[in-house]
Amino acid sequence: MSEEKIYAFPNGCTPGNPVTFDPEICNGCNLCVDACQVDVLIPNPVKGKPPLVLFPEECWYAGCCEGICPRPGAIQIHLPLPQRVRWKRKDTGEHFRVSR
Ligand code: SF4
Ligand code: SF4
Repeated sequence: MSEEKIYAFPNGCTPGNPVTFDPEICNGCNLCVDACQVDVLIPNPVKGKPPLVLFPEECWYAGCCEGICPRPGAIQIHLPLPQRVRWKRKDTGEHFRVSR
């Protein structure tokens, strides 16, 4: 049996998957962890690795974590289907989304 301590692990029982990380881009700075108002994320016990999504069902999808991240593409928010609305610019008629 391994002597390695496990401090926390993602909640694998819920279907929610509010944010994901690209481990090739994320450097584990944990700015997103500090920015999350409801503590969805916790630091990875392995230094330099992406944070863990501990309470996915608590996410408000406000985007503070993605907004503060200094490394584009490191974190991605996955909005629930009902929130994937499109917006239209009045001046150009362009349709766009604020997140993925
Ligand atoms: S979207 Fe908001 S609530 Fe969800 S993990 Fe990011 S900062 Fe936390
Ligand atoms: S996703 Fe961005 S803010 Fe969060 S730990 Fe990785 S690099 Fe830092």
